[in-house]
Amino acid sequence: MKIDTDFLIIGSGVAGLMFSLKVAAHGHVVLVTKKEMMESNTAHAQGGIASVFHRLDSFDLHINDTLEAGDGLCNREVVERVVTRGPDCIRELIDLGVHFNLTQGKDADGAQLDLGREGGHSQKRIVHAQDMTGLELETVLVNHVRNHPNITVLEHHIAIDLITWSTRIRRGLVTTLRDDFCCGAYVLDRLADTVKTINAKITLLAAGGAGKVYLYTSNPDVATGDGIAMGYRAGTTIANMEFVQFHPTCLYHPEAKNFLISEAVRGEGALLLDAAGRRFMESYDDLKELACRDVVARAIDTELKKSGADSVFLDISHKPSDFVRQRFPNLYEKCLGFGIDMTTEPIPVVPAAHYMCGGVATDLSGRTDLQRLFAIGETACTGLHGANRLASNSLIEALVYANAAVEQAVSDFQSMSFSSTPEPPLWDEVGTVDSDEHIMVAHNWDEIRRLMWNYVGIVRSEKRLARAHRRIETIQAEIQEYYWDFRVSADLIELRNIAVVAELIVKCAQHRKESRGLHYTIQFPHRDDHRWLKDTIVRRQMVG
Ligand SMILES: Cc1cc2nc3c(=O)[nH]c(=O)nc-3n(C[C@H](O)[C@H](O)[C@H](O)COP(=O)(O)OP(=O)(O)OC[C@H]3O[C@@H](n4cnc5c(N)ncnc54)[C@H](O)[C@@H]3O)c2cc1C
Repeated sequence: MKIDTDFLIIGSGVAGLMFSLKVAAHGHVVLVTKKEMMESNTAHAQGGIASVFHRLDSFDLHINDTLEAGDGLCNREVVERVVTRGPDCIRELIDLGVHFNLTQGKDADGAQLDLGREGGHSQKRIVHAQDMTGLELETVLVNHVRNHPNITVLEHHIAIDLITWSTRIRRGLVTTLRDDFCCGAYVLDRLADTVKTINAKITLLAAGGAGKVYLYTSNPDVATGDGIAMGYRAGTTIANMEFVQFHPTCLYHPEAKNFLISEAVRGEGALLLDAAGRRFMESYDDLKELACRDVVARAIDTELKKSGADSVFLDISHKPSDFVRQRFPNLYEKCLGFGIDMTTEPIPVVPAAHYMCGGVATDLSGRTDLQRLFAIGETACTGLHGANRLASNSLIEALVYANAAVEQAVSDFQSMSFSSTPEPPLWDEVGTVDSDEHIMVAHNWDEIRRLMWNYVGIVRSEKRLARAHRRIETIQAEIQEYYWDFRVSADLIELRNIAVVAELIVKCAQHRKESRGLHYTIQFPHRDDHRWLKDTIVRRQMVG
């Protein structure tokens, strides 16, 4: 089956939704999302959105905090752009109906927004909707998108691969070489179990992050790095995949899956304690519990390795109970559900993979180096985060880049001639049969996530990276063989993608012979600006 559209959007988090809403004024939009619309990292964001509103704050301070966190690798132009355009994006969300917490203060304009503070921020600047900011944002945007007459939403549709001109060459349909460009994607309709060919003039990758590459993660199940893997296979430049952010504090409980204890809890004064009740962050950083995430995650990792304990503890029980319940209603209820009353006792926590700073490299408008393909949100590497993301800087990045990408995409759409673009080849499954070996998918899925956690985690070494590399190569070969023999399924698509993303993380980590930001390796424990003050670039086969 073939569908024609002007704009194809892959992903229904904040990035895909915001882009869809705006671009729909200029053409027809098809938005595909692999499960229900709400399933996204966005819906899980708790803390909030970083933006300058406080009278003691300034763009310069937010810019400096972002650069500081990025450890030398942020693109200053990008940082300035995101920070200075941030407040307008927040006002736009309010106009769309997003409810943020307000204070009773009488300050003019946006200072009435209640502003939280998080690690690495020198001022209070986290705009939030209690501790469910992402859910509020996602609910409002999904509602607008569902009701837009120019947007067709296809839920339970998982994109398999981008379609490019070179897809035609590989299929032997044409032999002429030309500059490559994207003309849509193959998408598996999970309910009908058929593959659709979506032919689009402009395609947007907004498929989110890749936390599921690791055994322990704060991300929901949809975060399998599909956008990055598809971009890589289509030949786009991928950058900085070694910089995986581990959130220091995920709830440690046998029944809790991916449950994050927001940074804002430390922002409100929570202390980190070891199993003996001793505060330990003082020995690692002057900012103590408010140090940057990577510092806190590494400190916890070190403490756990030293003591052999299963978890450390986050304690906010010294604050008034009413305050804790009001400020963190969602966390309070969730913890209580697991038998932990955070107003009276410490919460057991461990670090977990949280955010991918690397991804599909883009310019200032979200354009990739494959024509007619854009990438925004967590899938993209824009240059904002550098070697480490400042807390709550990702939602704002997605919002600012949605605007910039719409502007560029509409201009491309209106100025390009599409009349000579040939029809994309339909999906070909000749020779494939239904799988009778699901065990291969389940086994390799588990093995990749475990080996990434054990060998490519918070603290890395040359030996462990080499071991991971060898193992992933073998698994990749098995997956390839299986992929071409059997009909595609959602599980196989995701397995194929986490294997690619794992390979990219390992390659980038092996390439960078220093420690910087989120990448820490035992053999090269120091930052080396002389040799490594640059992005790590991967393009199929080559690193340079
Ligand atoms: C627990 C948690 C808390 C966080 N807290 C904050 C915070 O307080 N502040 C902040 O700034 N950031 C926070 N983040 C990070 C932030 O939420 C994400 O970076 C951001 O929401 C990413 O938005 P996105 O639109 O790029 O991707 P997502 O919101 O993840 O959306 C991606 C979408 O793509 C879909 N998709 C994926 N692959 C495919 C495919 N192959 N085919 C079709 N659809 C596909 C998914 O189903 C999903 O709908 C948090 C993240 C987590 C997990």
